[in-house]
Amino acid sequence: MKLRGNSWRDVTPGGLIPWPGNSRQYETGDWRTRRPIWHKDRCIQCYRCWVYCPDSAITIKDSKVAGIDYDHCKGCGICAAECPDKVVALEMIGEEEAIQSVEGFKEAKSDKEEKGEKPNA
Ligand code: SF4
Ligand code: SF4
Repeated sequence: MKLRGNSWRDVTPGGLIPWPGNSRQYETGDWRTRRPIWHKDRCIQCYRCWVYCPDSAITIKDSKVAGIDYDHCKGCGICAAECPDKVVALEMIGEEEAIQSVEGFKEAKSDKEEKGEKPNA
């Protein structure tokens, strides 16, 4: 979250939030410890995750579920719990594991690039 000023004197008494429409300023993804991974190929577009997500972090594009806004997803797991059992298009994994898999992917990609091979993505 961005403070409005530069010092504690700019914080409102009692931490009150007197201005409306500010939920987008709170990047609740900052304190996530688990993250949902969306499997596009399994998704049946039932919208249950979108309906139940308390942070409006399920993104929609062209009237279809398109992914997750990780700036605002706080990792509560409600979307994965609501995703139908027969498809399991959302899986929760540890944030550490997610970061490591991204780092591993980056390393593998740069190894391939160093060797002059074409990276997968
Ligand atoms: S884990 Fe929670 S906040 Fe994140 S997308 Fe799922 S329901 Fe929304
Ligand atoms: S709940 Fe699961 S199957 Fe339904 S739209 Fe969301 S990800 Fe897709």
